[in-house]
Amino acid sequence: MHNAPSEPRTVLVVVAHPDDAEFGCGGTLAAWAAEGWEITLVICTDGSAGGPDDATDVGPEARRRISEIRKAEQRAAAEILGLKEVVFLDYPDGMLQPSIELRRDIVRQIRRIRAQRVVCQSPDRVWTPQYSIPRFHPDHLAAANATVAAVYPAAQNGWDFPELLAEGYPPSKVRELYITGAPVLNYAVDISATIEQKLAALRCHVSQLGTDQTELAQRVRQWAAERGQEFGLALAEAFHRVEN
Ligand SMILES: [Zn+2]
Repeated sequence: MHNAPSEPRTVLVVVAHPDDAEFGCGGTLAAWAAEGWEITLVICTDGSAGGPDDATDVGPEARRRISEIRKAEQRAAAEILGLKEVVFLDYPDGMLQPSIELRRDIVRQIRRIRAQRVVCQSPDRVWTPQYSIPRFHPDHLAAANATVAAVYPAAQNGWDFPELLAEGYPPSKVRELYITGAPVLNYAVDISATIEQKLAALRCHVSQLGTDQTELAQRVRQWAAERGQEFGLALAEAFHRVEN
């Protein structure tokens, strides 16, 4: 999409957890950042439920600790991708709801940076075997539903969340919405030049993905090659893209 020079080249990425963006669109974000887009990453949860599945120490202190570790990992990954900032909305991990409060918090971020592009996870489940279970994480669905509702109409409609007008955030229209992991993928970004940045960013998430990510890197390359093949590119990330 063509952007006049006066328009801000701003992107808001909204996901549920630290590392979601790297998996879904890390190569794309690095490519856009290299093109001069200013990218803000919003993490809806505090990442406080991201330890090993068999952990038994899951009390408040353990949650506080893992939350801090994951935030630091996310900031390091964002730096590798060339993102401008990371914003944590700090909803409790594992309990995210597509609430009006979450929608308002996302609208505030869209309006604050006057986001031209918004990237989010899929609000729809995909019932095909090649998709893995994590795509069905209820936090992902909640973050996605709240984001799609924030993009239209709330971000561009002054009647929605008048309290944001009082905060100094007038309505702002998003031009393009990109949905990762959607049932229908109609747009791909060539990540051949940025796959190494994506992998390096994933390597920051040691608490979730461990230190030996050789196998993971192979899988990520394989996914990118499969997506690329569908769109005539070497390595790609794919989206459902809609213009507003
Ligand atoms: Zn996640």
